[in-house]
Amino acid sequence: MAVTYVDHMGSDLAVVNAARASFAQVSEELSDKDVGLIGFLMRERHASPFEHASMTVFVDAPIGVAREWMRHRTQSFNEFSTRYAKVGEPTFYVPPPEALRTQVGKPGAYHFEPLDEAQAEAVREKFEAAYRASLDAYHELLEQGVARELARNVLPLGMHTRFYATANLRNWLNFLSLRTAENALKEIRDEAAQVEALIEQHFPHSYRFWVEYGRGSL
Ligand SMILES: Cc1cc2nc3c(=O)[nH]c(=O)nc-3n(C[C@H](O)[C@H](O)[C@H](O)COP(=O)(O)OP(=O)(O)OC[C@H]3O[C@@H](n4cnc5c(N)ncnc54)[C@H](O)[C@@H]3O)c2cc1C
Repeated sequence: MAVTYVDHMGSDLAVVNAARASFAQVSEELSDKDVGLIGFLMRERHASPFEHASMTVFVDAPIGVAREWMRHRTQSFNEFSTRYAKVGEPTFYVPPPEALRTQVGKPGAYHFEPLDEAQAEAVREKFEAAYRASLDAYHELLEQGVARELARNVLPLGMHTRFYATANLRNWLNFLSLRTAENALKEIRDEAAQVEALIEQHFPHSYRFWVEYGRGSL
């Protein structure tokens, strides 16, 4: 599972200049006053200036994680198609030992605990066997002449997919707010942490104030 930087547009300066459009002013370089303005915008949840900078990443994730990711309607996506291309040598998500967990408690009020170490290897083998069986069935169906768009139905949620995701800074911060939270799925949290490092790198002042004012949605 990995998030790879592709491109970005704008910077903290783009946020400042969008905000200063109200006064028909433009900054060429970020001054201390401009940095203060970013803090003000973040504190007051004056969100639209943060929509003038954006970032694109390339994501490699299990389909189940991608489904959660793509609930973020304000992002733009392009994904590898199992309808048009034959699945070559797919990667499947076998949870590493530290991610193996059991669910304790009632729906809506449960928490996770590490799975008994004695069970771990058998559980990982079960994942691998199920993936092998699905992939074998997929290849057999293709050999029998079944169309790719039908044969793919036997492939599992744990198979990795790859997609481009683009969002503006405001919506990346919303994504991070939701997907780095303690109650988010561990696997999407791990990927969101990689997005967060890129946001910090490319939009350091906006990021810093977002953290300072509580990592909320704008
Ligand atoms: C821990 C967790 C558990 C979840 N569990 C479930 C679940 O069980 N079932 C389920 O279906 N989903 C679930 N979701 C998905 C969740 O409901 C959201 O769809 C998802 O997090 C995307 O968030 P978003 O709408 O803020 O993002 P985006 O779609 O990117 O939207 C960004 C913002 O734009 C605005 N917006 C976008 N579209 C609309 C609209 N149509 N109307 C009004 N405002 C809009 C909102 O302000 C929104 O916050 C879960 C999410 C999390 C984080």
